[in-house]
Amino acid sequence: MTMLESSHTSTDIQSKAANGAASEILLADIGGSHIRLGRLRQGQDCELIATLPTPTQDWTLFSTVLSEAARPFMSSASALSISIAGLVAPETGQVTAANIPCLASRPLAQDLQSLLGLPVVVTNDADCAALAEARVGAGRGHEVVFCAILGTGVGGGLVVKQRLVRGAGGLTGEWGHGPVVNEAPVQTSDGRSVPLPRFACGCGLSGCVDTVGGARGLERLHSFLHQTRRTSRQILEAWLDAEPAAVATVGVYVERVSGPLALVVNVTGASVVPVCGGLSRCPELITVLDLAVRKQILRKSDQALLVPSQLNDQAGLIGAAYAAEAFFQ
Ligand SMILES: [Zn+2]
Repeated sequence: MTMLESSHTSTDIQSKAANGAASEILLADIGGSHIRLGRLRQGQDCELIATLPTPTQDWTLFSTVLSEAARPFMSSASALSISIAGLVAPETGQVTAANIPCLASRPLAQDLQSLLGLPVVVTNDADCAALAEARVGAGRGHEVVFCAILGTGVGGGLVVKQRLVRGAGGLTGEWGHGPVVNEAPVQTSDGRSVPLPRFACGCGLSGCVDTVGGARGLERLHSFLHQTRRTSRQILEAWLDAEPAAVATVGVYVERVSGPLALVVNVTGASVVPVCGGLSRCPELITVLDLAVRKQILRKSDQALLVPSQLNDQAGLIGAAYAAEAFFQ
């Protein structure tokens, strides 16, 4: 029998699932670079067990690395709950993770369940972040929480009354895609006034918020306006130092991202928008984006609506723990 053949019956797994609510849950936060493995024991905080490089090209290696890391903790675990940087189709369980091609169209939960003999839950990382921020982070106490991810790209998740909204195709909260970016002219540093192009997006459309709203998008805007390449961190540092080129870039960024986000707030009725991802580590950026969004929403409030994540790197593991709780209760 190879590593990939199942040695566990569905009865084994159902019996583990039936006991799930009472015991320990293994957690994995899987990104394109690293797998963070953790566990949650009843009445305790999430504990980080290990951080491993993610094998991205080879399924056998991926599943072996994950199962070997989890093995010492499996006898006491009732389930494995995974937060993954990819889409999870609720109808089929198939995962699409651009940065982890070896998982392409694989029903990850089902395959790992057969391999490990544990019930496995797989949830999109933005959804996990939304769940975690809504339950114990920046969205705590709010009935409708929209969590905006401004990381490498743009994503999001919606939590209503503490429950994750899981829509068709697992795509709820994906405000990063759709041809909506305002093409009104922008001023380039060589004095031209030109329409903002509809940049091509990885989803196949053009003009998506994802093309200008994440770290790569901020860099793309800066490059377009000033014909020079800088990292998002350099742009934000220069902006904080009031360097004119960076001030212009961030001005366009806030203008073009705030409109679509205001629409999301109007549609969802969110009373708080925790912002996760790398750009949320610049609280000054979140503050100016918050002011711009609040000027464009129907519900007027003098309270901050966009707030930086309170959980940061922990949001994936914590959200995965809550996703498993929802599955087993
Ligand atoms: Zn797109």
